[in-house]
Amino acid sequence: MSQGEGTGRLHLVSVGPGLAQFILPQAIETLRESEVIVGYELYLHWIRPWIEGKEIHSPPLTRERERARLAIEAARLGRRVALVSSGDIGIYAMASLAFEEMREDDTFDVTVVPGVTAANSCASLLGAPLSHDFATLSLSDLMCPWEWIEQRARHIGAADLACVLYNVQSQARTDGVYRVLEILQEHKSPDTLCGVVRNAYRPGGQADVHRLGELSSLTFDMLTTIVIGNRFTRRRRRWIYTPRGYHDWSEPEPEAPPDLPSGAIWVFSGTRDGNELARELAARGPPVVVSAASGYGGEVARASCGGVTVWSGRQGMEPRRQALERSHARLILDATHPHAAQISAQLIELARQLDIPYLRFERPSALEPGCAIVCDDAADAARRAVRMGKRIFLATGSKDLETFVRSPGAAQCEWFVRLTPDPERLSRAIALGIPRDHILAMQGPFPAEFNLALWRSQRIDCVVTKDSGDAGGYGEKQRAAAELGVPLLVIRRPHVEYPRQVAGIEEAIQAAEEMLRAGPGPARESVP
Ligand code: SAH
Repeated sequence: MSQGEGTGRLHLVSVGPGLAQFILPQAIETLRESEVIVGYELYLHWIRPWIEGKEIHSPPLTRERERARLAIEAARLGRRVALVSSGDIGIYAMASLAFEEMREDDTFDVTVVPGVTAANSCASLLGAPLSHDFATLSLSDLMCPWEWIEQRARHIGAADLACVLYNVQSQARTDGVYRVLEILQEHKSPDTLCGVVRNAYRPGGQADVHRLGELSSLTFDMLTTIVIGNRFTRRRRRWIYTPRGYHDWSEPEPEAPPDLPSGAIWVFSGTRDGNELARELAARGPPVVVSAASGYGGEVARASCGGVTVWSGRQGMEPRRQALERSHARLILDATHPHAAQISAQLIELARQLDIPYLRFERPSALEPGCAIVCDDAADAARRAVRMGKRIFLATGSKDLETFVRSPGAAQCEWFVRLTPDPERLSRAIALGIPRDHILAMQGPFPAEFNLALWRSQRIDCVVTKDSGDAGGYGEKQRAAAELGVPLLVIRRPHVEYPRQVAGIEEAIQAAEEMLRAGPGPARESVP
């Protein structure tokens, strides 16, 4: 290298994801004024027009430190040098190596020119998934011990941050990404919307939207970036976006409803009975929409009721109102769980506002006098349980767990829980300190023999459940508790004034048909 004139200059230049349009004018200016260019072949190719005829050094990709040293030595000799990285040179790239190699007594000038990093170039191809807080994580363990990467993934998941995975998978490093996806799903739902982007803003680039749970079946490479949303990330047309937060965060916006048939019977379900009702009604001709509160409920409804439209996910009152109104719903059939009082109250109110007939279907209580201790609510059950048992089995669902394990005296007891196999519920149980060998995650209901074997092996001395009716497996719990000789505490159903209520499938179908014939109005008129 020849000796340059005056003070040397080191430009740390970012050249963006690929195409020339994404290189900042200042980057072009610094490249033009540099005599020496140091960078990886591929990136140099993109900036060819501005570096032609200059002294060019491109050691292989793996020799990064060598590249940084080369650039610094040239600057020390008084030359004007550009050290080039793709994306942003300060993000998983060369800038920090240059600072490490620099000495305190170096006198050459330094400029850092920012650029469009993979996080925002890839996000832009997907929509706006990074509109709220997000983290980036490089899965390359060349620069960082693998345990740290896992640990960071765990924190990202726990904070439900949207995140961007760089250096996703290489030929030598194939398993790490699947492990990280698994860790993220300890807290994030498998339904979380994500994007996989390969070669953003380069020829042959590709961007696809997926659900987090699907990513483990894909393969990636080092030209790929994965963008993972948070639990509010939504889809609009072919895009995904994460809301800024200018709305009620306690009630996430639901998925946009599917194409809704006009004039349908709406069955609010999530129970086996509800699905059976929907199936029977659809078989008689009218269009039927099944609305299930969870993704899992939706899956079951889709599998068990042919010919109906299923809308699943946590839907707030307002989106629900709009969907019912726009699709001219003709009947609201509320077959939600007997303990889901809040949703029932909401549906009664919507029926009143929109003048749609409302019918409650509720399976009969299976409580037999003398066979169980009836409790008013979860707090009442918790108070009694800690007096009656030491190894207490909760078949009450995940929502009330906290009431039990935080109740006075709870610390003296061991808690065993049964949950539906949903990652969010499992995480909640673990976060509340339930030991993993005390958690059973399996979709019920279960035969009495199963309950008996389980409780016997766990040496359960008290069982708490809800008055969920026979379809919820209540009778099997009662029988098993009686055989084992342990007290059974049952939380009674919340009291709701239903305008009109039926208890059997046949009766429900007759009532529904009668209400359809009568048209709008009866729900309101029959309110006491
Ligand atoms: N300094 C670069 C990152 C270098 S690490 C930047 O700021 O973007 C290399 C990783 O970046 C790749 O493995 C890939 O995950 C991501 N990446 C860089 N450019 C990309 C592009 N055009 N499309 C998709 N991913 C890209």
